[in-house]
Amino acid sequence: MSATATASLPDARGHFGPYGGCYVPETLMHPLQELRDEYQRARADAAFQSELDYYLSEFCGRPTPLYFAERLTRQLGGAKIYLKREDLLHTGAHKINNCMGQILLARRMGKTRIIAETGAGQHGVATATVAAMFGMKCVIYMGAVDCERQRLNVYRMKMLGADVVPVKAGQQTLKEAVNEAMRDWVTNVRSTHYILGTAYGAHPYPEMVRNFQRVIGDEARRQMLEKENRLPDLLIACVGGGSNAIGLFYPFLQDATVKMIGVEAGGEGIQPNKHAARFQGGSLGVLQGTRSFLLQDESGQIQLTHSVSAGLDYAAVGPEHAWLHDQGRVHYTYATDSEALEAFMKLAQLEGIIPALESAHAVAECLKRAPVLGQEALIIVNLSGRGDKDVAQVADKVGLRMPS
Ligand SMILES: *Cc1c(COP(=O)(O)O)cnc(C)c1O
Repeated sequence: MSATATASLPDARGHFGPYGGCYVPETLMHPLQELRDEYQRARADAAFQSELDYYLSEFCGRPTPLYFAERLTRQLGGAKIYLKREDLLHTGAHKINNCMGQILLARRMGKTRIIAETGAGQHGVATATVAAMFGMKCVIYMGAVDCERQRLNVYRMKMLGADVVPVKAGQQTLKEAVNEAMRDWVTNVRSTHYILGTAYGAHPYPEMVRNFQRVIGDEARRQMLEKENRLPDLLIACVGGGSNAIGLFYPFLQDATVKMIGVEAGGEGIQPNKHAARFQGGSLGVLQGTRSFLLQDESGQIQLTHSVSAGLDYAAVGPEHAWLHDQGRVHYTYATDSEALEAFMKLAQLEGIIPALESAHAVAECLKRAPVLGQEALIIVNLSGRGDKDVAQVADKVGLRMPS
């Protein structure tokens, strides 16, 4: 399979090789078809793209800088490190890129009500933000355990006028929240659009979310050419469902000299129930609308996952990543909780940037790679979000005390 063919996927039915597709109850087939049709029309409509560009720049704060991390580069003594600063976007992460695209689409379809699922709450906050901005009703499903762990984001969503529904089934985290959102959608399809938060789920979500996030890679490519007059050698991004990673990688897929690494959550190490690294011990299966790599036991039960970072803590990975993994186009590895925490503190103290714990997984991989690459090598690390939401948790983990 050539790089060009890889970049032209998915096919018309949403398949990336054996992955992807559309595995939903019959009642959702029609709304998904409606969404696919409207998305295809919007994509071809210059007015839609220019309206999206307007809000991405005026409201969200694009373009984000491609920042040369001078002190980190000097300390590691190898490759030149650039940070793609998605952490500087409104609401603090890349999620708003996709939310803005989807709410404009929902408006085109005449929808008046928005629903979403959220784990750490970042996608919920971004969704509540765009819903407030366009005057739409908004309901966010969130696992009851996550509500408790991420109170700050629950308050933010409520202040933005959203209803937050705690989901008490099962593990009471993200997977259960997705189930509830799908149930709501089946019941309220006429009025409601479901803003799915990552490059996952039934066709067309993985492709649509990727295309709304590719602005990260398109900008980074242009910025690198301006600054260094050539393409980067290595891209590094963390992978939860996979949206910030595919957003950075996609525009470079056809450039054979650009290597790419996706970093999953290694949690407490690669043992059952202790991590969320789907490419370490995952296998082919169907979960929540799509076929991909999942962490499951022999009878197909979804395994428990663990990560210090809620945004990476999910049992399945987006289907395009499964495909890129099989093609060998992207290399997938993991960072453990303790490696991510160390990278978090290092970036804060060397560069004055407090990253999201998710993004700290990508930084951790950079700490391993940069020293063994020559000084002429160029790395881009996707800083998918800022760490404000993680401050209390990290303070507790690293044992910070109040000054007395
Ligand atoms: C949600 C989130 C992620 C993980 O989601 P992807 O779809 O894999 O990008 C990563 N970083 C941050 C800051 C997030 O909020």
